[in-house]
Amino acid sequence: MSSEGGKWKEIISSKYDTVAKNIQLRSKYQSWCWKDLTKICDEGVEDGWFQKAIGWKVGNRAIMRLWEDLWLGNECLRSAYPRLFSLSLDQGKSVGEVGVWEENGWRWNLNWRRDRFQWETNMEAAMLFRLSTGALCKDSLDQLLWKGDQKGTFSVKSAYSMLDNHQCSAAREGVFNLLWQAKAMPKVLTTTWRILIDRFPNRVNLFRRGVPMTSTLCALSNLLEESSQHLFLECSFAQQVWSRCYRWIGILGVQNKDLMNHFMNFHLTHLSSQHNQIWLGFWAAIVNCIWEHWNTVVFRQGVPDSDEIFQNAQL
Ligand SMILES: [Zn+2]
Repeated sequence: MSSEGGKWKEIISSKYDTVAKNIQLRSKYQSWCWKDLTKICDEGVEDGWFQKAIGWKVGNRAIMRLWEDLWLGNECLRSAYPRLFSLSLDQGKSVGEVGVWEENGWRWNLNWRRDRFQWETNMEAAMLFRLSTGALCKDSLDQLLWKGDQKGTFSVKSAYSMLDNHQCSAAREGVFNLLWQAKAMPKVLTTTWRILIDRFPNRVNLFRRGVPMTSTLCALSNLLEESSQHLFLECSFAQQVWSRCYRWIGILGVQNKDLMNHFMNFHLTHLSSQHNQIWLGFWAAIVNCIWEHWNTVVFRQGVPDSDEIFQNAQL
């Protein structure tokens, strides 16, 4: 994909070289495989993960599109200067088409629909300055760079891991949006947030940070390692607390793959979103009460008591 002259590249380019020729091949001439590929890669076009993951090193042919492709910095010019883009007569043209090599280097020949207003001139000057920082290299080949890998070479593995991160961060964002809307004290929500992202001083995390520990076993059940996942969800003690909640509201239980999942699934479909905000606030209160109880057991010789946690969370 990234180097010139590959056989596969020649075959695909001969049919699909939309970059160089700036032609959008009509969908009826595309194979199903290519359609799927473009669907995945162009999802949302500018917002697509794939578009953001590729960049160009500008060489002698300069075939990347001036406005639309990512060849200068982390944002394409179209997104950085939408106003100027709308005035440009060079939309869709390649970098090579809007400038020439001269003795002193590259000279830009940008074309506009009309003269720019004063404020647009300032914007144009900023863009020209940015263009002047772009390194065009007369003696090397154009090269596509893949940002998912340090060497800039595409691999399915790196794409998968990039996509996985992309989806994870989107899902986490959804969780936190819900959390900040939950009806609970800000302090309770902040503690819950720290638990959900596992930035929390449970015994496993303390041990990982080099805090001397006599044991990393759960302080409540003393059976398994005390991770956040264990302490707030999988521990037999936590299970008793959650079971009481389910009985209280009359549901069978919540899918508990992990803490974030448990939180997301802790809502009742027949309730309004406002009532569910109260309900998610209750989830946060439970988690906080388990943590307070942990402190009582560890530092004040308390005895684990799931009823007490449930009652405190209802307050
Ligand atoms: Zn336990």
